[in-house]
Amino acid sequence: MIELEDFYRVCSSIGARSPYWTQGAGSNVSLKMKFDGKQLLRIKASGLRMDAVNRAGGTVDVDASAFKTRFLDIRADEEAECELQYAKVIQSSSLSSNPSLRPSMETGFHVALEQPLVAHFHSIAAVLMADLYFKNLPAFPSWVAQSQLKLSFVDHFRPGFLLSRFLMQCPNSDAYVLRNHGVILASNDGLVLEKWQKLEKDFCREFGFEWILGPTMIGQDLQEILSLLTAAPLKFYFPDTAVFLERLRRVLIPDSKRSQFWVLKSEAMHEDRDMCELWAATALLYEACPDVAELPDEIIATVANLPVEKFRKSGT
Ligand SMILES: [Zn+2]
Repeated sequence: MIELEDFYRVCSSIGARSPYWTQGAGSNVSLKMKFDGKQLLRIKASGLRMDAVNRAGGTVDVDASAFKTRFLDIRADEEAECELQYAKVIQSSSLSSNPSLRPSMETGFHVALEQPLVAHFHSIAAVLMADLYFKNLPAFPSWVAQSQLKLSFVDHFRPGFLLSRFLMQCPNSDAYVLRNHGVILASNDGLVLEKWQKLEKDFCREFGFEWILGPTMIGQDLQEILSLLTAAPLKFYFPDTAVFLERLRRVLIPDSKRSQFWVLKSEAMHEDRDMCELWAATALLYEACPDVAELPDEIIATVANLPVEKFRKSGT
């Protein structure tokens, strides 16, 4: 049985593990509850940081039953029209009277997955796992097979409607590892996050990425982590890099020693902490494995213009 306390504990655990699990306003957690014969979904509000979620606010309740019916009714020949309808479904299923609080743009897969607790975050280790899986590293399948969690690997999907529609048809798993995106944990108990954390540690030890999650890095504050990182190229490892590209560029300056490499401006932490976290995750990934694959051009080109992303970027 999962309680509201589990929901808030998971939100704060993810929020505290930036930039390894979450960067800026990325990530979302939801809990399904029964109320008055209906299924309600409590979910992080769009555009807010995970560490802004607590019992006092930062969440929106959604009529999950109505959402599911409306989601399944989305039909259009054009993808752009589907995205518009998806944005309307999110808005119309919200039970919040505050128009500036909207459900997360990923509400679709939170409703689609059957388990009561769903946590999605942009884990650096998950990006590395998916990279090895899709590169068919020979040692990887046997490691996956002995994992304590049932893992599913999901290829590139644009976040929002397309990813949600795909996950609606997927068989149940404990963890969906999303290529160039992160992970979705779906659980019937409150311990899935601890299990995932153990799995990440094991993965990093087994495949030589231990320093990323090792004691010298984890537990340091963001400023300390940034001081340990060197210049890196601007790689599109996450959809948020495309969504927030202009904002990210504003905190970067070209490295004086290598062309196409970037470093953070000295005043960046005061100007835009969210982008410093996104840059830290990018530089950590590059340092861990310089040939990690990037998002395909088609997703980079389209993700920033989604109707749901326009709302998220407005920060209202
Ligand atoms: Zn995401």
